[in-house]
Amino acid sequence: MGWKSLDDMELDGKRVLLRVDINVPVEEGRVTDATRIERIVPTVNDILSRGGKVTLLAHFGRPKGKVVEEMSLRQVLPALEKALGRDVAFLPSLDAAGDAQADLQLMENIRFYPGEEANDEDFARQLAALGDIYCNDAFSAAHRAHASTEALARLLPACAGRLMQAELSALEAALAKPERPVGAVVGGAKVSTKIALLENLVNRLDVLVIGGGMANTFLAALGADLGKSLEEPDYYDTAKDIMAQAEKAGCRVILPVDGLVSREFAKGAAHEVAPLGPDAKLATDQMVLDAGPETVALVETAFAELRTLIWNGPMGAFEIPPFDTATVAAAQAAAAKTRDGTLISVAGGGDTVAALNQAGVADDFTYISTAGGAFLEWMEGKTLPGVAALGG
Ligand code: ADP
Ligand code: MG
Repeated sequence: MGWKSLDDMELDGKRVLLRVDINVPVEEGRVTDATRIERIVPTVNDILSRGGKVTLLAHFGRPKGKVVEEMSLRQVLPALEKALGRDVAFLPSLDAAGDAQADLQLMENIRFYPGEEANDEDFARQLAALGDIYCNDAFSAAHRAHASTEALARLLPACAGRLMQAELSALEAALAKPERPVGAVVGGAKVSTKIALLENLVNRLDVLVIGGGMANTFLAALGADLGKSLEEPDYYDTAKDIMAQAEKAGCRVILPVDGLVSREFAKGAAHEVAPLGPDAKLATDQMVLDAGPETVALVETAFAELRTLIWNGPMGAFEIPPFDTATVAAAQAAAAKTRDGTLISVAGGGDTVAALNQAGVADDFTYISTAGGAFLEWMEGKTLPGVAALGG
């Protein structure tokens, strides 16, 4: 909220150091998915059209402070030029950056320099000498305090690029100052990977839907015997503690009341609906792979009252239909309400994005974050160094 956007900057004649995420998948020297590259186009064009010069700073892979030829950003140059519809000059090293600066240039993989991941001040000063303004459009790297995301931001007038601006605005609307009631779906495989997320959310939400494999751990902690379902006995106490925190904070927790149960973890496997709850007892070879129809109805009723919804983690093993049923149904309910204009819906997480795409609702949600770790850390309530350095 304290951060500036490009709207606040005077760009004419200014050299802008623009941190981007173009860490795209490459096979045999060719970019196989240019989504990340395409998403930076509005920011680059905005700066150029307002008379600014752009030096793109980006990482590629994990070269760990050494020059690794296979991780050269040179290989993404053609895809970048294609997306932007213009030539992009390439700067093979910091030393090659002379005074004659092209209007648009891409600097070699910033992680070739040990100073980058060390967030080294001297290295950041070397970078700062190449620009007048710093602009960060790489929210997905904002959870790391690296020279190009943190130290550099403190050396120059700094702002968020268009992508970062959209992401921060969406995340602030979802969690920092949401329209209430605000609820979340937290699903996925394991409680152990989402403890910080659950603990932060129960203190901020009105409703929390727990789904997926992690719901098994909650149900088992209450006494259910779920056969060979995925669950984490070491986290029963954590689950109970999260429920106690929720109760104290006035957050209603919705656990599955029924599930799709199968003996096989396979596509199209024979399955039945089983009631779930603290007294549930499945056969030793049965497992819960999705939430059942009554649970979906319960979730949809809860959605009806919400003004804001956060979603991380599928409600079942969505990769193997029909165990995507609950996720798809709930996602479509959230999408319909978002289209009506009565819900702000924000989702993120690698598998969540895939599941929402599978449900065909990716364009209907208010915002879908592809930022992975940075999205999760934001939802955990952590301060992201790259955002803090922008004044956020
Ligand atoms: P995200 O990447 O969106 O943060 P997670 O990685 O936490 O999500 O969880 C996604 C995984 O959880 C998927 O691979 C899915 O198959 C698995 N999963 C969800 N529910 C179950 C279940 N009941 N049993 C086994 N796996 C499940
Ligand atoms: Mg995942």
